[in-house]
Amino acid sequence: MMLKEPLGARRRRNFMQSLLITAFALTGIGIAQAQSIAPATPAKIGTVYTGDVINGKKVVSSLNTDDLEAGKKHLLYFRGVQMSTGQYWYVSVIVAKGARPGKRITLTSGVHGDEMSSVHTVQTVMSQLNAAEMSGTVMAVMDIARPAMESMQRRWPSSGRGFELTDMNREWPGNENGLGAVSRQAGLVFNRLLQPNSDLAIDFHTGTTGLDVSSFHIGDMSIPEVKTMMMLYPVAAIWNNPAYPGVLHNAYIAAGIPCFTPEVGVARRLDLNAIPIFVEGTMNVFKHYGVIPGAIGRTAADTNVYIGKNAMPVLTTQGGFIELLVKLEDDVTVGQKLAIQRNAFGEVMAEYTSPASGRIGGMRSDATSEPGNVLVFILADGATVSGTATFPE
Ligand SMILES: [Zn+2]
Repeated sequence: MMLKEPLGARRRRNFMQSLLITAFALTGIGIAQAQSIAPATPAKIGTVYTGDVINGKKVVSSLNTDDLEAGKKHLLYFRGVQMSTGQYWYVSVIVAKGARPGKRITLTSGVHGDEMSSVHTVQTVMSQLNAAEMSGTVMAVMDIARPAMESMQRRWPSSGRGFELTDMNREWPGNENGLGAVSRQAGLVFNRLLQPNSDLAIDFHTGTTGLDVSSFHIGDMSIPEVKTMMMLYPVAAIWNNPAYPGVLHNAYIAAGIPCFTPEVGVARRLDLNAIPIFVEGTMNVFKHYGVIPGAIGRTAADTNVYIGKNAMPVLTTQGGFIELLVKLEDDVTVGQKLAIQRNAFGEVMAEYTSPASGRIGGMRSDATSEPGNVLVFILADGATVSGTATFPE
């Protein structure tokens, strides 16, 4: 979940990069020296085993699932970017390599570090696959932004200019020789693991710390395969919108690989209401593309799915303590009271009413707020904040 346009941060980063380049030029240090020694990405990725084994799993620095034995599940670590201590951030990879060829579908989670239901959804799906009866390959990566996950927070902590927090889902497709560890991790993972092994992809997320959401997708329905995949889930809502540049699903799409972002309920804890919806939908995707046998289960056609361009945010106008009067997925009408906000004395400072008739798609879970935060998202088309669309992702 992210509420603000990332442009400021991106411009700042681009500005820093241009400053660095200028500085290198002025001091006569070649830019090649300033960059890492990461070798160029080869045109065709083969599997490279580093020779290391961690917790019984072999380590790869690039992967081609064609190289893996068919009809089996493979558990590997992919070696990502280095830490400040010289060790590596490894990510966990499961490949269910079917007995017969077919579509290659990639599932990812953990691009944000506080989104546990996305990880659990992918784990559950993988546990239900029997590679011996599959036609095609399903690859899953559970923990792409591991340093963020280690501290149960959305953003990746790095040491570029002292302690920094970076939203990895604004960095894709990354750059193996880029400015900072997060861009490099994205580049390594995308170039050497995800992109070469995917015909279709799904990048699982949830709401975020401080803001609960219901179950929905974000994706561009003008791309036929994206629409097909999203409609195979029995979700409450679909936001038909590509969302921000730099998110993983847009990097896939730029590489010709249809992808979208499911949002599996609330952050931090396991959302046991939402997870089964996304497990069922993902198994439907596999069945639709002939990767596994079986009848399609419930889909969006069974859930009276709401489809819109974006949700209407209701922003707090005051700082203070919030008492919500509605619940997730409640239907509300224009003018219905949504929340009361009090100051530290308990005096009522603001009352918030619904600007539209619609359904509650997201709501603040923290009981306090500064002014300007999203208090409630209402599933109803039309409103933006100062011309800027916002999406819970
Ligand atoms: Zn997310």
